[in-house]
Amino acid sequence: MPARIYITRPLPAGVAEHLREAGMEVEIYPKDQVIPQDVLLRAVEECDGLLCLLTDMIGREVLARAGRLRIIANYAVGYNNIDVEEATRRGIAVTNTPGVLTDATADLAWALLFAAARRVVEAERYLREGRFQGWGPQLFLGQEITGRTLGVVGLGRIGQAFASRASAFRMKILYNSLEADPEFEGAYPYGASRVDLDTLLQQSDFVSLHVPLTSETHHLIGRRELRLMRPHAVLINTARGPVVDEAALAQALREGWIWSAGLDVYENEPAVHPGLLTLPNVVLLPHVGSATFATRLRMGLMAAGNLIAYFQGRRPPNLVNGGVWKNG
Ligand code: NAP
Repeated sequence: MPARIYITRPLPAGVAEHLREAGMEVEIYPKDQVIPQDVLLRAVEECDGLLCLLTDMIGREVLARAGRLRIIANYAVGYNNIDVEEATRRGIAVTNTPGVLTDATADLAWALLFAAARRVVEAERYLREGRFQGWGPQLFLGQEITGRTLGVVGLGRIGQAFASRASAFRMKILYNSLEADPEFEGAYPYGASRVDLDTLLQQSDFVSLHVPLTSETHHLIGRRELRLMRPHAVLINTARGPVVDEAALAQALREGWIWSAGLDVYENEPAVHPGLLTLPNVVLLPHVGSATFATRLRMGLMAAGNLIAYFQGRRPPNLVNGGVWKNG
């Protein structure tokens, strides 16, 4: 019997075909929207493999219904949407898509940094509104980027890719991570050192977040941390929304504790804190960190590759819960 795979939303062309060519039966939720919970619950009862998205909450209720499910292939590097502990307890493999979205996400973090530092969105809106009266010496003054200090929180794949791009701007790097990375420090030409989070927040002109969402990183940046930052500092978040206390951030931006922010992710997506929506000094993107044509295809093929490996009896290359793998 061929393995039955359920995909929770249409993906780039080529992904489902890749699975079918490997002999799998594929069903796809047909609408380009988040799959309704009742449809997801029915789907997991009847599939052997699930290809799901970060917007699909795969918690206890879903897993309890997934009697024949063997593997969940998440179409994301972050997997905080899945109760991995419960999946592991049930012997269900969980995989993610590391590496293939690193550059796209690091690039987008820089797009946010530039936009927030140089008031790109605010200035563009002003022009479109017909308010541009010609060059002005005080028009949309922003923060200098070249030569300043960049704080990187979480020096993993994306954090490193983001940080390495700073050499073009001759920036000094402060980073906070669980372990020091002497190789990165040695290779970076303008000085990179590991410091504790408080020091990073106190001394950086720009702070960019690249940690996964875990119980330890939930509200890593809250009221106290925002108070430590410099009044001209810019905060960038392309990691996960709940890493920042959004209500505290709205207050910090409104009251000038920090200068501006650029966000791709939110605490309660797709909702955005109403206090942020009315502020001029925050750039708000709709979670598009990995949204390039090439990256989204690579993510799909990687997720499919994990499913194919599993059902061919091989260890999925991007297995998150290695403990479930008993075949060698
Ligand atoms: P990664 O390679 O695992 O990097 C995460 C880094 O954070 C690791 O070095 C990790 O250290 C470190 N870390 C974990 N907890 C920490 C803490 N409390 N303080 C400091 N550092 C900590 O993952 P990645 O591929 O770079 O992805 C990072 C995150 O970006 C993902 O989890 C995802 O949530 C987010 N993301 C967002 C988008 C988007 O569309 N906006 C796209 C892709 C990814 P250890 O390795 O020692 O645990």
